[in-house]
Amino acid sequence: MIIRDKKKTAKASILLIYTGGTIGMMQDPDDLTLKPFDFRQILDAVPELGKFACRIDSYSFDPIIDSSDAEPSLWQKLAYLIHTRYRRYDGFVVLHGTDTMAYSASALSFMLGNLTKPVIFTGSQLPIGVPRTDGRENLISSVEIAAEKDPEGHALVPEVCICFDNMLMRGNRTTKVNSDNFRAFRSENFPPLAEAGIYIRYNDSLIRKPSDWDAPLQLYQELDTRVSILKIHPGITPRVVRNILCGDQTRAVIIETYGSGNAPSKKWFLDTVREASASGKILLNITQCLGGSVNMDLYSTGKALKDAGVINGYDSTTESALAKLFHLMGQSEDNGWVRSKLEENLRGEITK
Ligand code: ASP
Repeated sequence: MIIRDKKKTAKASILLIYTGGTIGMMQDPDDLTLKPFDFRQILDAVPELGKFACRIDSYSFDPIIDSSDAEPSLWQKLAYLIHTRYRRYDGFVVLHGTDTMAYSASALSFMLGNLTKPVIFTGSQLPIGVPRTDGRENLISSVEIAAEKDPEGHALVPEVCICFDNMLMRGNRTTKVNSDNFRAFRSENFPPLAEAGIYIRYNDSLIRKPSDWDAPLQLYQELDTRVSILKIHPGITPRVVRNILCGDQTRAVIIETYGSGNAPSKKWFLDTVREASASGKILLNITQCLGGSVNMDLYSTGKALKDAGVINGYDSTTESALAKLFHLMGQSEDNGWVRSKLEENLRGEITK
């Protein structure tokens, strides 16, 4: 556990990227709904940003969006922007709506290889102009963390993270779990990378460090989005299962199973899984549980999936599994290669 003294923070330059989200929203007087507003009000509402011993530049997406409208094209623009400005900045803070923040952070973790600088996603549950907003704290902590360096001058957290309600979490481990509490995100299967109190306490041994600090950032922009998600539930019908598993537009299916990776043992269900697998589809097993991992050797209902060619997704979140599939499938048309890479821990997204 490392506690940094703020005074020792080396002068850093940060790029603050605004994509939209509640943090910058205002109430529309006509229909009283929250709509994205402009970036200037965020900067005006947090004058403390000017007190940091670092340079903060900003970049606003146009249009700014509610993150429910986020698409893979946003991730591509974001990754490209970070790639093109990479050498100019020591860290990046991405202001993003909370609804799909875990998807975007997961995607960026795979799209940016050899990361040596922090990319910190944050946002808020209440707009920045509201007196009890959580946006100010979240933004200030994110900027401070993005600027932190170790005594050798390397970034303290060279990872894609989500910083929310005083917790710094690995981006591809997080899920939005609450729509109105300030603690909106959880990283159930991996401890926080840092916690902010009077000091920011870093769990240094958990933070991933690059093998070569001088290796250039790798940009993986290609994404193949032909992925469906099948959430198993009591009463699910053969027709629904078939439509999702065997759809011709689908190259991969994430199967959200029960508990430690179990699914119905009914013949029609397993026959459909086998048919999809035999036709070459990539089938990935993750659990519906918020915590814990898939183990297809534990119950015969899980073993049947394994025997049908279903890949173990371990303790992956749905968001991370989706982003990993988009990323790997974007790299290759070879489903065998994708299957083998799925089982690897690429960016700290699974525990093996
Ligand atoms: N709907 C908003 C969004 O995700 C919610 C938020 O930012 O908290 O953009």
